[in-house]
Order: sequence, then C-alpha cells, then structure tokens
Amino acid sequence: MVGGICGSILQIDLSEDRFSVERLNENWVYRFIGGAGYAARLLLDYMDRYGVPDPLSPDNPIIVMTGPLTGVSAFGSKTIVVSRSPLTYGLGKSTFAGSFGLSLKKAGFDGILVVGASDKPVHVIVDDGYIDIKDASDLWGMDSLEASSTLAKSLGNGYRSIVIGPAGERLSRIACIVSSERRVAGRTGLGAVMGSKKLKAISVRGSKPIDVYDPELLRKLNSDWLSKAPRTSRGEAMMEYGTAGGVSMFIQTGNLPIKHWAMGSWNDAWKISGVTIMEKYRSGSGRKICGSGILCSISCERVVEFDDPRFGRYMGKGPEYESVAALGSMVLNSDPVALIKLNELCDRLGIDTISTGEVVAWAMEAYEKGFINRDDTGGLELRWGDVSTLFRLIEMVGLKKGFGAILSDGVKKASEAIGRGTDSFALHVKGLEVPYHNPRLYKSMGLAYATSNRGACHLQGMAMLVERGVLLPEYGISKPPSSNEEYVDTVIVQQDICCFLDSAILCKFGVFGIVDFDHIAKVWAAVTGIGCDRMDILFAGERIWYLERILNYLFGIGNSCDSLPRRFVEEPVRDGPAKGLVCDNIDEMLRLFYERRSLRSIESLKGKLSMLGLEDVASIADRIGLKLY
Ligand code: SF4
Repeated sequence: MVGGICGSILQIDLSEDRFSVERLNENWVYRFIGGAGYAARLLLDYMDRYGVPDPLSPDNPIIVMTGPLTGVSAFGSKTIVVSRSPLTYGLGKSTFAGSFGLSLKKAGFDGILVVGASDKPVHVIVDDGYIDIKDASDLWGMDSLEASSTLAKSLGNGYRSIVIGPAGERLSRIACIVSSERRVAGRTGLGAVMGSKKLKAISVRGSKPIDVYDPELLRKLNSDWLSKAPRTSRGEAMMEYGTAGGVSMFIQTGNLPIKHWAMGSWNDAWKISGVTIMEKYRSGSGRKICGSGILCSISCERVVEFDDPRFGRYMGKGPEYESVAALGSMVLNSDPVALIKLNELCDRLGIDTISTGEVVAWAMEAYEKGFINRDDTGGLELRWGDVSTLFRLIEMVGLKKGFGAILSDGVKKASEAIGRGTDSFALHVKGLEVPYHNPRLYKSMGLAYATSNRGACHLQGMAMLVERGVLLPEYGISKPPSSNEEYVDTVIVQQDICCFLDSAILCKFGVFGIVDFDHIAKVWAAVTGIGCDRMDILFAGERIWYLERILNYLFGIGNSCDSLPRRFVEEPVRDGPAKGLVCDNIDEMLRLFYERRSLRSIESLKGKLSMLGLEDVASIADRIGLKLY
C-alpha cells in the first residue's frame, strides 16, 4: 500500500443508520492521489451507479477527505470536503486547515463519505475503530462556535470536530462548515449539504501512527525546508501579518475591492489593513499555528484581543485577507473592531465570508441605485459602511429571516429573485461569488475565475501570485505573463498545480513563493514511496483537473458557464492605482484556453482523456451523457 494513507474510507448511510468500511482503491490513489482528486473519482463512481444527485437530496454524497501528505509534511496541510454544490449545482469543494484531517487519519480513515438523510439531527463520532451515530437534538440550533465548545466539553480530550451553524441547518446555499479550531470550509455551500442530511457534526479522535515510506528521509527534508522557509520574503510577510498583511500592498496596487468593485481607491482602507489590526490589537505573539502541519513555520492565523464598549471583551481569531475585504472594503466598513466581530458572526452563523461580502454589497448597491427599497428589505436602510446595518443584515442572512432569506441563497439566486436588472451587477461565476483579487488588474485572474471548476475562485489557479512576481521557474514561468498566450499558460499550470495540492493535500499558503516543487516531489516520494519529479506533480494535477471538468459537464455546467461578470469586462476601474484597467481580453483568453485544454469538441476532449489514461472516466461520462455546452 502507498505510504501516507490508511487504506480505508468510512461510508455512512444516514437513511439506514448504518456504516461500512471500504478499502481505498489503490489504482485511484496512483492516478488521483487523495483529497480532491480521489473524492472526485468517488463522486463519479457514485453517479455512475445511482445517477446525478440533486444537491440537497439524500442521494448527494458528501465526502470529507484527507490526502497522503495530510498531517505529515512540514509545509502545512488541509482536509477537503467535496459534494455537488447547492450554490452552483456544479462541483462543490472546499478545504479547511487545522488538525481534523490528521485526527481522522490517526483514527484509521483517509476519508468519510456520508449519504442519505436522517429524520432527526445526528452527530457522527469516530474514535479509533469505534463508530457511533448519535442523536444531536441538543446541538441543533446552536451556533457553530457554541456547538464546538459543547462538543469539546462533552467528548473530552483529543477530539476534533466539524460542525454546521444555523445557516447550514436552514439550508442556506452559502452555508459553510466550521472546525473546532475555527477553521472554515467556506466555499460552495457545503454546510447546506450537511444540513440537508440533518448532520450537525462529525467528531474524530485517533491514536494510530501514520506510516510513511521513508520516515528518516522525510525528517531530513522537513528540517531542510524549515531552515529555509522563513527567509523567503513571502514567508516573512505571511509570518508577520498572516494573509491580511496583503491589504497594505493591495491598497497600493489596486487589487483591493472597494464598494462592490465600483471604486478604485478609498482613504479609510488603511484603517482595516492587517498591519493596522495587528499593531492595535495583537494578543501575545499574535501568531497561531493551525495544527495541520507538523511544524508549519508560517503560522498564518492572527490572534487579536480588545475590550470595546460596544462589543465587550474579545480574544481570538483575527480576520484573514478575504474576510477583511468582504466585511470591510467591499461594504466601506472601516471599523476594524466591528470587522473582527462581523467575521466572528459569520463563523457563528456558519456562512462563507466571501459570499456574504458579495451578497451584502450587491444588496447595498441595489438599494443605492433604487432597484430595491425599504419595502423589499423589511424596513432596513442599507447604507454603505453602517456597522449596525451590517450586523443586522448578516444575522438575517445566516438565520434566513425576512430579506436575509433571499440573500442567503447567494447572489445569483438573489438577483434572479429580485429581478429588475440587478443581475447586471451580481458578481459571480457559475453561481459562486467572486473572491477579492482584481481581474481587471491581474488579467490572468479573469481567466482563472471564468474557467475554475468550482466557480469564481482564487485558490483553483493562483495566477495573481505569478503576476505579482511569485514565479514558477521549475515549470518554465520565469517572468510575469504579459500576452494572452502567457496568461493562458500561467492559468493552466496554476490550475494543475492547485489540483495536485488539493489532493495531496498541502496548504497553498505554505507553498507558493516559499517552497519549490522539486522539494515537494522529494517529500511526496519519501511519504508515499511513489517515485516522483516535478513534472509528475503537474501531470497528476492535470488528470484531476480534467476529472473535475468532466464532473461539471455531467452536472450541466458546460463551457458556456465559463464567463466573467460584466463589471470586470466592461467597466474600467474609475480611479486609484488600477485606473482605466479592464479585463477586455477575456474572450481571446478563453478561445486560447479551450484550444490548449482540447475543450472545443467531444472528440478532442476524448483524445485528451485517452492521452491522460482516463479512458474509464470517458466511458462513464458517455454512459451518463457528456455535453460540453
Ligand atoms: S500557512 Fe496557515 S493554514 Fe497553512 S498550514 Fe500554516 S498555519 Fe495552517
């Protein structure tokens, strides 16, 4: 058996109140690794046997998956959740940091697949070999942080849990899954899939060792890396301020989204930068390791504290970059303390901050422009930057109350429900709200958003990093791209690498600009025993990217869904450092992308699948019914 994996998947059927333990398919591990890749192959197999599931039906499996590198590498690792998304109706996947995956592997499982639905709330407990499906009526209704701390008290030492909040229980399509370490699988609404199964929580604990192929070599590689990593400039910046440290640079470059991407500069942005937040509210060292790597030296989580007359005492997680943008600059909120508490509110309710920021900013723009009024909002005035409005509206979203119920299904459905032309500024791709890196400034991000298999996403092809000078010379990218051909090449390499990283599973924050892929290939071989060089990483990622693409085709998410919101294509940035820029080359980039990816016709796609050794995937797709558009 391959090193770094346990060899077993726990399968639970909540309709039948039973479970079984299945062997991991070794051939799939060789081709699709683990994590996102293995889960996608499981999903395809499931669809081959039972048909294409509705996202919120009992038939939709939800898969919590680790990878061979989860918990064993020194550059941090993650756990992934995969299902059909109730937000996009396409591939849903979202990673989270922390030690849940490590505990799951120590309990003897590489992943958990849950199907069916219970008729009452349940809590799944995995304690080494012991499995229990318990009544969770007492947890139902609790917010996610309350549920986590209740579980920590009742279960005792050593358990790690994932839970949903009220939003997941109410099937909000932007609901997330929150871990007991307050790390979040935020994107694509997978909290609602758990909610549809009445699955409030999963807790795991284990004591088994994780066998790796060559532990001595792995120890040496890990310590070599640890002696180098903090000295890279990106590593140092991340160590000091976490991802929110990027805000200062993004103000100066024009990357920061301001007032729903309608403004290009905003003097108050400095008040909510990661640097300001840490200088004013740092608690102790201000740094915290997420627990997912054995030694991750980046420790990107910021710890802050304050005692504020409005909010009382707080000590805990500071916001990451995406949340600063979502709950700060997108809605013109320059109050850092309110921002930290809004971030906590989203986590408590169990809603994705990126999607929340977009849907709230969209509603504010619709209100400002007169598309909606107080009759629509239930009397609420939606004023930019008004903190009390933000708290009220976001709570209404998470609890699906009044006007919040419309927003809680995401911006695409909200704009369809309201109509009146509001879809023209609903910023999403395939239904997933756009994250906070500017595709008018970084044109390759326009293509990455448009073609990402899970909808607009900065983590499925981090091309903005390459445009900022975080190059990949080991893959022939030795300068930032500047032509359409180079943008396309950059996005394709980034997409394939990200598919590998989501399958292995490594933390991207601890990789790009910090460790090179020759080193990762050596770590991969030391853990798994599978000989590997940097090109094998790229080929594995490519196989997984096509597998995910096929899943989307089968879900009805075809090439015509690869588009970028009009704002980024037709409305140049009004002012600031990115003034005048627009992603006006998206059509040409898409044309080249389809050519390079062989996505123009079913015949060319099948030729590509065959070159990649994915004939089994092609024949299942044929059986289910493959359409590209
Ligand atoms: S960079 Fe952050 S999320 Fe990634 S492994 Fe390290 S502490 Fe965890």
